[in-house]
Amino acid sequence: MPPAKRKATHQLTKQHNRDLVLKTIFENETISRAEIARITKLTRTTVSDVVAGLLSGGLVKEVGFGSSIGGKPSILLSLEADSRYLIGLNLAQNKFIGAVVNLRGQIKETAEIPVPDGDGQQALKSVYEILDKLVKTNWKPLVGIGVGAPGLINTRQGIVVNAVNLNWQDLPLARLLHERYDLPVSVLNDSQATAIGEFVYGDHNSDGNLIVVNVRHGIGAGILINGRIFQGDGGGAGEIGHVLAQEDGLLCRCGRRGCLETIASAQAVLQRAQSLSSVSEFPTLDAIETRFLANDPIARKTVLEAGHSLGRSLGSLVGALNIRKIVLAGDMTCFGQPWLDSVQQAMTRAALGRMAQETELEIGKLDYAACILGASAHLLLDGYSLLFGSEN
Ligand SMILES: [Zn+2]
Repeated sequence: MPPAKRKATHQLTKQHNRDLVLKTIFENETISRAEIARITKLTRTTVSDVVAGLLSGGLVKEVGFGSSIGGKPSILLSLEADSRYLIGLNLAQNKFIGAVVNLRGQIKETAEIPVPDGDGQQALKSVYEILDKLVKTNWKPLVGIGVGAPGLINTRQGIVVNAVNLNWQDLPLARLLHERYDLPVSVLNDSQATAIGEFVYGDHNSDGNLIVVNVRHGIGAGILINGRIFQGDGGGAGEIGHVLAQEDGLLCRCGRRGCLETIASAQAVLQRAQSLSSVSEFPTLDAIETRFLANDPIARKTVLEAGHSLGRSLGSLVGALNIRKIVLAGDMTCFGQPWLDSVQQAMTRAALGRMAQETELEIGKLDYAACILGASAHLLLDGYSLLFGSEN
């Protein structure tokens, strides 16, 4: 092997070992060097070398002694959660929300701004405004910006291909933000970001596979397979909101009729309740929630029927993927257990009995923060090099 190539290979091995050790430390509250060696199958010497580097870089700290059988007590290591910070952005709510997050997903500071209506340039300015605010806070060093944006996203190139509500087409968002803030940037679909957030921080005990269905103004799913977000060949995996759910149904914002969104989203429930009663009776989703809790028949009917339609579509996901854990997130989760039951019933009827029975369905725990946390966690999903800045 020529020396230059040997050097490059050596560098790669070093980086790989460091990522492996760091991943093990991330996944444990505290852990000893010996335990890391056992899990990673690296030699104790290699682990000690890597850990020495992490200690001097401030990423890891020694936190006391663990018990050990026979030998001397071992020193426990723990991630220094506040040694680096990330920014996460959620652009899919009725306002833009951003936050500075530490390495354990604790939110340190948030900023928000109303979403300008349908003006693409203004929307971009608002993103700058919110980030300008967050990069000026005292949480340093910042090592990256993760964005969860609505619509179809090309994550690899960091381009928002099409976001109807924000009026963005082929917007090179990652490049623009990188040029302005000189930080690594990741852009992904908000439902995919939400899925990563629930997977990493939602405490779902999933072995690596998870579906998170985001039911809000629109509907989208994020699919994790072996701990990685599955985006499909064109980045649109999980776009179940625009799959036909009702022949000759209502007109959808995508221009076609009868999409799942037109019968199962929060927006669909609101419109349906208004059409069965009046706008003044049901001005907002909050009003429906109040009436739903008071057993109002129109509120019950619209919400539970929407749950049924969603459940029927989830049956196809169960059949296609056989992933046993499905988490529901987004505005519609405000209707709680009765809505969840209606989704579950329809899903069970729509999929093969045994597969449906083995599928656990539950409501996510993180609310809108799931998207922010997932967008920031996505920056570290493929490795930790950005935690080491220019030294790499
Ligand atoms: Zn549609």
